[in-house]
Amino acid sequence: MWKKLFNTTQKIIKENKAMILNESSINYIHIQKRKKNISLKIDQQGLVISTPFDTPQSHIESIIERKLTWILKHLKKINTDNQLITSIPIFGKNFKVIYQCPNNSIDFKSEIIHLVIKENHKKIITNLLKECAQKYFNERLEFYRTKINDQPNHITLTNAKTKWGSCSSSRNIKLSWRLIHAKPEIIDYVLCHELAHLKHMNHSMLFWKEVESIFPEFKKFKKELKDHSLSYFILD
Ligand SMILES: [Zn+2]
Repeated sequence: MWKKLFNTTQKIIKENKAMILNESSINYIHIQKRKKNISLKIDQQGLVISTPFDTPQSHIESIIERKLTWILKHLKKINTDNQLITSIPIFGKNFKVIYQCPNNSIDFKSEIIHLVIKENHKKIITNLLKECAQKYFNERLEFYRTKINDQPNHITLTNAKTKWGSCSSSRNIKLSWRLIHAKPEIIDYVLCHELAHLKHMNHSMLFWKEVESIFPEFKKFKKELKDHSLSYFILD
């Protein structure tokens, strides 16, 4: 009874530990608390092992050894997720990413992305790019819409990695925000392609004539999009 009472007031112990396995050092955080089972997790801190108080060290190490493949796989993923982005293409130009700025913003003139903090930087950059894509695509669509003398019902952004754009029979245009990485002429080609589908819901000769009528140099950029598309998968 006294032991039980003592345990309830016992404070959580948190220690940084390491063990050598296959000639490499596995660092982990060992948390001892009032619990029944041993649990392992991998988060931003790395490997975290929680155990009941007084769990023998040899037991903890044997668990790490048994789970090593799983541990290494997940640690590797965390490391690549945490890799800091230092530059990113927007409109086909390499923008530098700098941190510890007063606000999160894109300076198009000096080609710099300003970020306040490093935490969650990929998500923050993605949001800035989506915002920029929305605004830019709308502007360009407005420009070409007058040339084609027709207009879509809705324009929405997608997260697609291979399908850059689409136009439905209900005249809704969808565009991948990732196109913002491409140079303006490539973006224009995709926008004109989708706008031309308002007139022809196919890829017939007449369709391509329509694309050409609003964007005469389209062939060059259609090819460039095909050649460079892989380089637009930068952010998850
Ligand atoms: Zn098409």
